[in-house]
Amino acid sequence: MRKYWINYLIIISCFMLIFSCQEKKKNAKFKVVTTTNMISDLLHQIGGDSIEVVGLMGAGVDPHLYKASEGDVTKLTTADAIFYSGLHLEGKMVDVFEKMNKSGYKTFALSDGLPEKNKISSANFAGNHDPHIWFSVENWRLAAKFVTKQLSTLQPQNKEFFEENLRTYDLDLKSLKEDLNEIASKLPKEKRILVTAHDAFSYFGKEFDFKVVGLQGISTTAEAGTKDILDLANFIVENDVPAIFVESSVPEQTILALKSAVESKDKNVALGGTLYSDSLGNSGTPEGTYLGMYIYNMSTIVNALNVTE
Ligand SMILES: [Zn+2]
Repeated sequence: MRKYWINYLIIISCFMLIFSCQEKKKNAKFKVVTTTNMISDLLHQIGGDSIEVVGLMGAGVDPHLYKASEGDVTKLTTADAIFYSGLHLEGKMVDVFEKMNKSGYKTFALSDGLPEKNKISSANFAGNHDPHIWFSVENWRLAAKFVTKQLSTLQPQNKEFFEENLRTYDLDLKSLKEDLNEIASKLPKEKRILVTAHDAFSYFGKEFDFKVVGLQGISTTAEAGTKDILDLANFIVENDVPAIFVESSVPEQTILALKSAVESKDKNVALGGTLYSDSLGNSGTPEGTYLGMYIYNMSTIVNALNVTE
């Protein structure tokens, strides 16, 4: 009798264990893996508490050069969905995403949410498009819509919640653009020349009417040569550019070499500050969000270029 009783207890315990595992799985949050922290921020804005966001690239990480580690592959293969930027921004990870997509993983490139006319063509970059799409606020509004649409398909029970978050965030993005235009309006047209380490700011230039010049081209994989540095130094002297900018995700040596080259021509050029180009700032700081990053960048650019001789 005692033996039957023990068996009975074991069977009950097994059922309870199975039930609690299933409950845990049912309650586990929908896990979304992202590449850059701009995308993590966007997924937080739309997905809110209903999803868990795991970002692969933290602050200051260069997506052009980033290679997936073994740990990243585990994160990717256990994700419920993967969101990346696309247009070859994540140059070394394109193969990983394409293979995963073919194997049935749910991978989404934000650039697929943009119409062709919103992408800047560039013959110098793999895929022939400039991948720095987030520097167009209009593009980021479309990316937010794209994320909302995909999350709503993946989690139809939360569709209303995602759409409400989109409505709120879209208002924030519209008001961001007004604030950015207001800050830019303090800088006369002839002073709107932005010189940075690599060509990340073409969308910014197009949307806010700046001429942008990058020393390294669109990807950081191409290094600037001596001739590039001398040509750009001449351009800075000829156009009387008062400041050039370091980027948080690119080593500052190239910009320092450019500064020296300008100074060797008896012209002073200041370091205007560090801009967030291919990465947001640290999480928990204003610059760790898209909205805060953009206000910081625009203010830094306008303050450094708005000098009177
Ligand atoms: Zn870049």
